[in-house]
Amino acid sequence: MYATPVEAYGRYEPVTLKNVHEHPAYRRLPESLRRELEVAAQVLPFRTNPYVLDELIEWERVPEDPIFQLVFPQRGMLEPEAFTRIEAAMARGDRNALTEEVWRVRRAMNPHPAGQLTHNVPELNGRKLPGLQHKYAETVLFFPAGGQTCHAFCTYCFRWAQFVGDRELKFESSRVDVLVRYLRAHPEVTDVLITGGDPMVMKSSLLARYLEPLLEVETLRSIRIGSKSLAYWPMRFTTDPDAAEALRLFERVLAAGKQLAFMAHFSHPRELETEQVEAAIQNLLASGAVVRTQAPLIRHVNDDADVWAEKWRREVRLGLVPYYMFVERDTGPKRYFEAPLAEAQRIFADAYRQVSGLARTVRGPSMSAFPGKVRVVGAAEVAGEKVFVLEFLQARDPAWVGRPFFARFSETATWLDDLQPAFGEERFFFAD
Ligand SMILES: *Cc1c(COP(=O)(O)O)cnc(C)c1O
Repeated sequence: MYATPVEAYGRYEPVTLKNVHEHPAYRRLPESLRRELEVAAQVLPFRTNPYVLDELIEWERVPEDPIFQLVFPQRGMLEPEAFTRIEAAMARGDRNALTEEVWRVRRAMNPHPAGQLTHNVPELNGRKLPGLQHKYAETVLFFPAGGQTCHAFCTYCFRWAQFVGDRELKFESSRVDVLVRYLRAHPEVTDVLITGGDPMVMKSSLLARYLEPLLEVETLRSIRIGSKSLAYWPMRFTTDPDAAEALRLFERVLAAGKQLAFMAHFSHPRELETEQVEAAIQNLLASGAVVRTQAPLIRHVNDDADVWAEKWRREVRLGLVPYYMFVERDTGPKRYFEAPLAEAQRIFADAYRQVSGLARTVRGPSMSAFPGKVRVVGAAEVAGEKVFVLEFLQARDPAWVGRPFFARFSETATWLDDLQPAFGEERFFFAD
């Protein structure tokens, strides 16, 4: 049953550097903090909205507040030397020099980790298909043009480079016909993941133009939508003018015999507390969509087992299915956000232990690395050596899945590349 609309926020309007100073709580922040935000936001994308500012941030806890950390770029997200250079360029007031400095800093921040633009781009009849990614046999990613922004930006976003306005860093497609032809040529693909940005920033009519042709592809079993709209703009499913149209579109997906799998990004339990998000979830579930949840583990935002346990519990109570806990990728302000793998695994296990089996559908902590999604199962002692037990949840070669492997234990490693094979071996079995 669809929920009765709760208090409306009116039309979606972004809050950016241009108008954030109009927000009363922001104006009350110390001048030095606002200044730091404005320097960091020259480099990192900044965009939020009144719902996030008024419902999700607890302003008396700023700057430590986790949602403030989630959406407001911070001084510590830039290298000190980069921060100083940007600040100085701003003070000089030379627009061109500032732009040049900003791009220099961005290019040093590994804008496209794990070969995002160069690898996994499929071909059809010898032609590359931009806006598509095909890494794991059964799933193709599609980046629709028009869905390459979000209702608010996460400071830790691994696709941040898509949002800072350089065409050459953009990766998108407006050709759903090309996707359909690719799927017909690849019947092994059962899932299409529509991602971005956030596909739910598109008007429902545009989203329908992307989804409807897919309903005709018999080999396709599910359409996934990767989205943070439930957390950042739940009115997309309640009071927005085309909310009902989106829900009817999802109903048609179900009627066509396919699953609409909504992959919701929730970073913190607070995002699941408002009456707006509860109504939005009720509507999405009533449309027949299955909602699974995922998020990375992020220092300053959710690096706490109790926070994760509370998040998964609330998700299950609201009818959602916990799916992945990710390790933050090697990009952007990684130093600021990263947690070592050993700590991430302890946080995961401490949280997992606290929740009912219904929430133990979640898997993690998982690194989306070049060879595949690698889960840190735990630390163990084997033949006198302290090791990490690891496994592929997804792999370039499906044969690698379900085969535990071992790395030398490290208290400081933060990514697969930092790990050495255990037992004196030269290389991991999947290397080369
Ligand atoms: C995570 C991911 C998928 C989907 O993997 P599942 O384990 O099926 O959720 C597909 N493609 C890429 C590139 C991914 O990172």
